[in-house]
Amino acid sequence: MKQSLTFIPTLRENPSDADVKSHRLLLRAGFIRQNASGIYSYLPLAKRVLTKIEQIVREEMEAINSVELLMPAMQAAELWQESGRWEAYGPELMRLKDRHDRDFALGATHEEVITTLVRDEIKSYKKLPLTLFQIQTKFRDEKRPRFGLLRGREFIMKDAYSFHASRESLDATYDDMYRAYSNIFTRLGLNFRAVIADAGSIGGKGTHEFMVLSDIGEDTIAYSDTSDYAANIEMAEVVVEYTTPDTPKNAIEKVATPDQKTIEQVSSFLNVDASNVIKSLVFNIDEELVIVLARGDHEINDIKLKNALGAQSVELAEDAAIKELLGCAPGSIGPVKLPLNVKVIADNAIKSICNGVAGANEDGFHLVNVNPERDFAIASYEDIRFIQEGDLSPDGQGIIKFAEGIEVGHIFKLGTTYSEKMNATYLDEQGKAKPFIMGCYGIGVSRILAAVAEQFQDDNGFIWPNQLAPYDVHLVSVNTKDEAQVQLAGELYGLLKSYRYDVLYDDRTERAGVKFADADLIGLPVRITVGKKASEGIVEVKFRTTGESAEWAKEEVFDRLNEYFQKN
Ligand code: ATP
Ligand code: MG
Repeated sequence: MKQSLTFIPTLRENPSDADVKSHRLLLRAGFIRQNASGIYSYLPLAKRVLTKIEQIVREEMEAINSVELLMPAMQAAELWQESGRWEAYGPELMRLKDRHDRDFALGATHEEVITTLVRDEIKSYKKLPLTLFQIQTKFRDEKRPRFGLLRGREFIMKDAYSFHASRESLDATYDDMYRAYSNIFTRLGLNFRAVIADAGSIGGKGTHEFMVLSDIGEDTIAYSDTSDYAANIEMAEVVVEYTTPDTPKNAIEKVATPDQKTIEQVSSFLNVDASNVIKSLVFNIDEELVIVLARGDHEINDIKLKNALGAQSVELAEDAAIKELLGCAPGSIGPVKLPLNVKVIADNAIKSICNGVAGANEDGFHLVNVNPERDFAIASYEDIRFIQEGDLSPDGQGIIKFAEGIEVGHIFKLGTTYSEKMNATYLDEQGKAKPFIMGCYGIGVSRILAAVAEQFQDDNGFIWPNQLAPYDVHLVSVNTKDEAQVQLAGELYGLLKSYRYDVLYDDRTERAGVKFADADLIGLPVRITVGKKASEGIVEVKFRTTGESAEWAKEEVFDRLNEYFQKN
């Protein structure tokens, strides 16, 4: 492609409205432009990278017998009402009306559409298993669209759905997907990990997220320093065994702690370690106010709390509700002498508290020498705290460390959540109607573009790996007024194209400095510069990954280039 004929609007300056380097460079190198918050145009260079990402995804999906289709983005509200998600999905779902005032949604995900499609067409177990996928634009009215393509309101996703007659069959497809995803992210050249995840509102058990390790990641991954254990911090189990020390238990006492509200303030005021302070919070759990305890040096994880109690909703109680229940502000809550019927749930680590400190349910006062069981009852001990760096890894091997990750893929075992709600059944061998057992599997295609953009760059611009580069070769003719240069550049352009190389040919009448700066920003793997030595038939070649350069005679260009692309 001649650069004079394409559309690559590079910017001289760093755009001021972009917070992360991938977003800045995608704008600056002329790959994307914003249309509205979280909504972007993919310009020709980005489109080429997206096509390559999609191709890798497609190949790996097809390798596990997943078949491509394309479903509508516009979806009738009735489908979402059937699954119960018209209400449950909330404001993230983009809703609209047609001219007859009928409700529609723009697809945020396609469980509803695919479930009805398969329900209407597949009647027998003989047609199962079936796995279908699409690569399509999704719409989600995200609360905080940010970081460019990383969290958009309109974005590209690969979503696959599988249908089964048995759990074993679902497990087998899930394992295939796990491997296919690993292949995809490996082929993309991303530094990733598969982590155990929370199933969230989509429901179902058995789910992994694929995370690209990156310091701009919005998720924290807890991983073992010695084994391959990795989990989203939201889910990571704590397996430390806590026992109560058998030191003598002292008499409980009330002490004044004026203006000491936080754990830090209280522990330094009373000169005790935070690990011997009982952190007490009031949660509203399915409309019941419950006291939840953790050690002062730990944080309560409301996702684990919700899962441990099998609750539908878990929220911190409002200050007013706490005042009404206990007569104090949040900084003075404690588990001793609670009103009747108020339940206490404790994190397992509370077992290690001996002669500890707790709020007195009276502003400005705490209790010392508090001992669980002796001074208050505990309805149940649960694993409800966030894992911490240095904790034992849940698989018993090694110590936990943290890393930040960008979620680029997610695989779920849905089970019969949707098929039951939407009455999607097949006939089994005995002729009995059974709900389809389902799985769903997403990959953020446009988010991957941002993740690779974040990973493959330096101060000068992108460093595209060969398998994703928008073009293989950047052919730059330095002086378009020099006959010999124009002649040789044109000759090489024709030659490389005829051998199926993707060549971006900078034939513009710009100054050399501008051309080189643009070439640096765009970051193609090989740059061939036709300059002063054109009359001798010599070009300068520069490799973007290593920064190495060489001079090649025009006769050797083709062989040397082949050699480079075969090796890398
Ligand atoms: P997140 O926790 O980041 O909001 P999610 O759990 O909502 O993700 P899924 O519903 O599992 O995401 O969607 C599948 C994939 O689509 C995700 O793994 C992610 O890569 C991508 N994705 C989700 N939301 C967005 C978005 N707003 N912009 C770009 N990609 C997204
Ligand atoms: Mg989301």
